[in-house]
Amino acid sequence: MKSLYFNEDHELFRQSVIEYINKKKPFFDQWEEERQVPKSVWKEMGDMGFLGLMYDEKYGGSKVDFFYSVILMEEMARAGNAGLLGGFSVHSYMATNHINNIGSEELKQKYLVPSIAGDILGAIAFTEPNAGSDVQGITTFAKKEGDHYIINGSKTYITSGCSADYFLTLCKTEAGFDIIVIDGDAPGITRNKLNKIGLHSSDTAEIFFQDVKIPTSNLVGNEGMGFYYVMESFQLERLCCAIMAIGAMDTIIAETLEFMKNRKAFGRPIAYFQVLRHRLADYCTDLECIRSLTYETCWRFMNGEYAIKQASMCKLKATELQNEVVAGCLQMHGGAGYMEDYPIARYFRDARVGTIYGGSSEIMREIIAKVVVDDVQFGKVY
Ligand SMILES: Cc1cc2nc3c(=O)[nH]c(=O)nc-3n(C[C@H](O)[C@H](O)[C@H](O)COP(=O)(O)OP(=O)(O)OC[C@H]3O[C@@H](n4cnc5c(N)ncnc54)[C@H](O)[C@@H]3O)c2cc1C
Repeated sequence: MKSLYFNEDHELFRQSVIEYINKKKPFFDQWEEERQVPKSVWKEMGDMGFLGLMYDEKYGGSKVDFFYSVILMEEMARAGNAGLLGGFSVHSYMATNHINNIGSEELKQKYLVPSIAGDILGAIAFTEPNAGSDVQGITTFAKKEGDHYIINGSKTYITSGCSADYFLTLCKTEAGFDIIVIDGDAPGITRNKLNKIGLHSSDTAEIFFQDVKIPTSNLVGNEGMGFYYVMESFQLERLCCAIMAIGAMDTIIAETLEFMKNRKAFGRPIAYFQVLRHRLADYCTDLECIRSLTYETCWRFMNGEYAIKQASMCKLKATELQNEVVAGCLQMHGGAGYMEDYPIARYFRDARVGTIYGGSSEIMREIIAKVVVDDVQFGKVY
């Protein structure tokens, strides 16, 4: 069946992603227990070309259209390890994206090239203990002294916070807000791993900066523009969240259907009970609706449109639906759904964060309301 968005080359690429990820599936439980994905995986993904799909060949990327990235995130989400996917998406679509879009040539050579190769891992450090949704409330301060910044403050809930080699860090400065690349091994940094209810394969940390000295050449983009850069990057971040939720739902529904066909009650497979089959039909219908909006918004993004309203709608609907679907599908598993023997237990845990990170559902509704109620026009910065 022809697709509006995927051609034969896309589908060949999809096969290579599926083949790679199938080889990694036997390790998923181990990573969940170890609370970390081994760094060798990033190198493998770099070698496969998976970390540079959006970036120029001169930096080691392949600069293919955005639907290759959609496939990669969708298939990784379908594989069912959201922790791996979290670290990957932050690295490839958030940390490196800022450096690619607005970083100096020096920063590109130092961070983008080895990131695409999978030699180093990036993270984004925006959230602070007292400022998450309210990004402008951050207090981590970078004071300029000659050709260095002296940085003091803390960040929290940072994906890959313990394993990352560098952090794209939003700081307050005398110029306003700035994004500064901080090396993970810079003196004055302390990192503590946090315990989460899900995404166990992803390491999440709080990070403290005490008199951390960073060259001013590690400023990303123009001075004083950091807040606007962060706001603009949210379009892609939200699309990634939506794609990941959609891929996860494909598997949640497929595995639940398999279970329903095999599990018998009152002499027949539970898939025959109308209340359950209709619920599943509703889930599939809602999933196809949000998939269509998400693909269309990806197409807009790929063609240079700043579709922040649609991207926020995609993130809101896909992650809210994922929570509804995974809770309902776990219910259809009965007691088995509450056991770790079935992956649905992990899917349930992992889905919960979707409506919180990358901008909570409440913030998504607020952005959508600003556009549709207040007629606010959000524009591009770069
Ligand atoms: C697993 C995980 C990974 C993360 N990874 C990263 C990362 O890599 N880098 C990073 O910088 N951050 C990361 N975050 C942080 C995440 O982006 C924030 O948790 C999120 O933005 C919410 O901020 P907060 O936790 O401070 O909640 P708060 O902002 O304190 O919000 C608390 C509640 O109030 C609601 N609320 C806040 N403001 C409003 C409003 N105006 N109207 C209505 N309701 C409102 C929120 O929706 C929420 O329900 C991660 C978080 C988690 C859980």
